[in-house]
Amino acid sequence: MVTPLIELSGIRKRYGGGDRPEVEVLHGIDLCIFSGEFVAFVGASGSGKSTLMNLIGCLDRPSEGRYRFAGRDVADFDADRLAWLRREAFGFVFQGYHLIASETARENVEVPALYAGLPEDERRRRASALLERLGLGGRQDNRPNQLSGGQQQRVSIARALVNGGRIILADEPTGALDSHSGAEVMALLHELAAAGHTVILITHDRDVAAQAKRVIEIHDGRITHDSGPSTPSTVLPLPELDGAPEHSAGLRDELVEATRTAWRAMRMNRGRTGLTLLGIIIGVASVILMLAIGEGARQRIVEQLGSMGTTIMYLGSKPPASGGPVGTISEDDLEAVQGLAEIRRVMPVIGDPILVRHGNVERTIYVFAGSEALPQIFRWPVKHGRFFNSREHAEMAPVVVVGNKAYQYFFPGVANPIGRHLLIGNAPFEVIGVMSSRGADGWGQNYDDMVFIPYRAGRARVYKTQTQPDYTVIDVVSPAVVETAETAISRLLTDRHGREDFGIGNAAAKVKAEMRTRDAMTVMLSLIAAVSLVVGGIGVMNVMLMTVRERTREIGIRMATGARQRDIQRQFLTEAVLIALSGGLIGVAAGLTIGGALLLWGIPVVFSLSAIVGAFACAIATGLIFGWLPARQASRLDPVVALAGE
Ligand code: ADP
Ligand code: MG
Repeated sequence: MVTPLIELSGIRKRYGGGDRPEVEVLHGIDLCIFSGEFVAFVGASGSGKSTLMNLIGCLDRPSEGRYRFAGRDVADFDADRLAWLRREAFGFVFQGYHLIASETARENVEVPALYAGLPEDERRRRASALLERLGLGGRQDNRPNQLSGGQQQRVSIARALVNGGRIILADEPTGALDSHSGAEVMALLHELAAAGHTVILITHDRDVAAQAKRVIEIHDGRITHDSGPSTPSTVLPLPELDGAPEHSAGLRDELVEATRTAWRAMRMNRGRTGLTLLGIIIGVASVILMLAIGEGARQRIVEQLGSMGTTIMYLGSKPPASGGPVGTISEDDLEAVQGLAEIRRVMPVIGDPILVRHGNVERTIYVFAGSEALPQIFRWPVKHGRFFNSREHAEMAPVVVVGNKAYQYFFPGVANPIGRHLLIGNAPFEVIGVMSSRGADGWGQNYDDMVFIPYRAGRARVYKTQTQPDYTVIDVVSPAVVETAETAISRLLTDRHGREDFGIGNAAAKVKAEMRTRDAMTVMLSLIAAVSLVVGGIGVMNVMLMTVRERTREIGIRMATGARQRDIQRQFLTEAVLIALSGGLIGVAAGLTIGGALLLWGIPVVFSLSAIVGAFACAIATGLIFGWLPARQASRLDPVVALAGE
């Protein structure tokens, strides 16, 4: 007793159910088909032939009854094993050909071999050989829409055969063909049957059916006549059912293929892909830029902090909060402050715009009266000559050091102004040095545009009515003691004055406060950038959902030819990631380009590798996360429904 290849008993199939009315399409089919048979099902349209065919081909499961394939109950097979069976044992030929429109003839033929895990060159070789054999040697690189119906059907037969095609399931293969092409296809099926393939043909045409060795008539979901099993002369061996359903060949091949398909799909929808990419590009570029600009601003402030000195404080008199006259910071006060352990240097300052003359050059310029400690306190070297010393300070020496710009006003073209005299107010001062160029500080003071004289000399010769310094610069020994120094000075002066009629400002604190605002702004802008990346991700998801819907039929075809759910999922996930990847790459390039342009404009921009890598990784993650749902949706499609989809 031979085990039937296909054994159906009591098979019923119902559609609908739930909120829709339930219809039973197959009302108990009992049937055995043996290996190597050439069987034709014949019946009117709507009699249930295709439904039966889908059940036999494991594209669908019966509602009731038992299907044994080579003696094994198919109900026990999981989705992966059914996919394996479709791939290794069956080969489908449909009335509507069901070729993937975007792929060439040869690529269409290769699809089942791809899912079988065949290496690329072997796939290509087999597909070419089959197309050659079916008379399509010169048409391998044509897309389906460049082929006639008969040619398309031959491509689909080649596809059915690429993995061996032991059982050919042909659903109205000649239905859409002219009689000549129809006859060619029938001749092919005859050849295959003669070579030992089991051929199951479905037709509503009795003449076509009559060409088979066994004819089974179906009427309204029941078998009404069966000419009985025939005995084939040759039989192809079946694939080993107990063999591992996992395929051998690699993830790599499949990824390459998925990438190729994805790339093609992206190219075919250029406009849409471009817009989706734009979202990701903007997201990635702005994350990179925002962080780079933030870092640039931060570094500039740190630099400023360095040149300003993180150890500098400012002391000035003011009316006390409790009321009363403005206090006076006396020279004794300053000496006491200088005596504190935390204090390194104390420099009283008076400064005002004063009329200064040299020869016939006359200019109102800021005259800065300070101490010999100025170059150290401001970390600012002299360019020519020297700065005044403590003896000159103490002796009220009439000497002046000029800022770089002031030098250019008063001594244009004079290489060495040392020894010349400036008339400040009415007092002559001898030039002993020129400061190096410094530039404006953070508060708009341009130190280059000043001249510097000893404080005492200033009090005696220029600022005669001034009773105390405008303010006093205090340099503490290290940044760590700024706060304790502030407390100590405050306590000392409060003791001496009996009230708090002075104020202490802290340059470092000011700069730090500014830095904090900038940091907060950077965080906010980065958040906005991150949000735009998420919006880009939603764009990817949207486009992927659309793609899945548009390519439902392609998904059905891939499933019918042996793709597992995870193959489909992987493919669509790859597409989503590819979009995100391209967007990420272009986004990084755009971010760097715009950042470079900003640099040329003089805006400080500091790129960080971690921000670039991070933004890029986020883009990929976005693709994975937002691509996952559409990919899963695609993989969960029912093959039969997907095949029927447009
Ligand atoms: P045939 O291939 O013989 O023309 P089918 O097997 O395609 O017939 O369809 C048989 C019957 O089942 C038809 O009446 C058809 O409308 C119905 N049918 C087929 N598929 C579905 C489905 N997915 N849902 C509901 N009814 C269906
Ligand atoms: Mg049909």
